[in-house]
Amino acid sequence: MKLDAKALRYMSSEEFRVLTAVEMGSKNHEVVPSQLIAQIAQLRHGGTHKRVGELAKKKLIARVQNMSYDGYRLTYGGYDYLALKTFAKRGTVYSVGNQIGVGKESDIYIVADEDDNQHVLKLQRLGRMSFRTIKSKRDYLQKRKSASWMYMSRLAAMKEYAFMKVLYENGFPVPEPVDQSRHCVVMGLIDAFPLRQIEEIGNPGKLYSELMSLIVKLAQHGLIHGDFNEFNILIKSDGSPVLIDFPQMVSTSHVNAEYYFNRDVECIRVFFRRRFGYESALYPRFTQDVNREFSLDVQVAASGFSKKMQKELEDYQEEIKDMSSEDEDEDEDDEDDDSDEDATEAETSAKDNIPELTEEEKMEQKMRNIRLGNTEPT
Ligand code: ADP
Ligand code: MG
Repeated sequence: MKLDAKALRYMSSEEFRVLTAVEMGSKNHEVVPSQLIAQIAQLRHGGTHKRVGELAKKKLIARVQNMSYDGYRLTYGGYDYLALKTFAKRGTVYSVGNQIGVGKESDIYIVADEDDNQHVLKLQRLGRMSFRTIKSKRDYLQKRKSASWMYMSRLAAMKEYAFMKVLYENGFPVPEPVDQSRHCVVMGLIDAFPLRQIEEIGNPGKLYSELMSLIVKLAQHGLIHGDFNEFNILIKSDGSPVLIDFPQMVSTSHVNAEYYFNRDVECIRVFFRRRFGYESALYPRFTQDVNREFSLDVQVAASGFSKKMQKELEDYQEEIKDMSSEDEDEDEDDEDDDSDEDATEAETSAKDNIPELTEEEKMEQKMRNIRLGNTEPT
């Protein structure tokens, strides 16, 4: 699912008004009835109808024929538009550059503000799933997908932003949180490579203990990353790590805290053994090494990401995890034999789908950065 930055350039204020009406209607309607859209938008002479047609053509909304009524729902494109528009208004995003990442449930772009400071835009895409999964769980998804992809993606972005902010303010090596709207987070661009891409390293023991200390320090602040792997650790040119990707963080008081903690530790041990041939008898253990000294939970809650939201998102993530592991079991025979890497397999293949750009292409993309902001063609 690409971010269609071109569609962002031109939009009349009436169209924008109608798009906003669809978003407002979505708060309590899965499919927003056409009549309600018109009521909210309040355009004269039945102007809404025409605007709805234009928005549908641009794929910012989609028509849904329901059993009881016809109406429209916002698409990811429409939701992207609204978030970007908000960022543009606040001055945090002025132009969108090239895509630097695509995960199972997110898209990552380089963006810039008006002074050409580059940042990273992460768009959550919860509900985007493999065709296989959709096929086998069609009924489930029909109930779920339209009802909550928007809400769940928004929760994931809110959570990511809230944790990033608290971690950043407490001196952890994470990107600077810049802005958040709907399903999107804007954050500092880290000039670094994911650990996954580092083939050789001068002193693996030093990085290993830095990473283990980071896991322990997090836990002493009451937190577990939950996905502490070679994709979510960026290594700067001076060799120091930066941690990213927070929507799955859990508290050390979570019922499965010990499991998540040990899994994070194990991820690093296994990676260092395989990649650098480095093994150490020293590694932190939840029961021995975690004395909770502070709790950042309170600060996170103060940011507006409530316990209730945390629970809703966690339940959803659990369901999705169950679904995808069931799915993997069913189709075991068509995976390749590289069972060594099973935990990160899905993430790898999704990332490997991005075609490598040549330097020239990258430059060209940069030059073609698309301007946001003004909506009327001049
Ligand atoms: P996902 O939830 O899809 O795993 P991540 O937040 O882990 O998304 O980001 C995916 C990839 O995008 C990372 O592996 C990294 O290469 C790149 N990336 C994400 N955030 C940043 C950032 N702030 N600076 C530089 N690169 C980033
Ligand atoms: Mg990640």
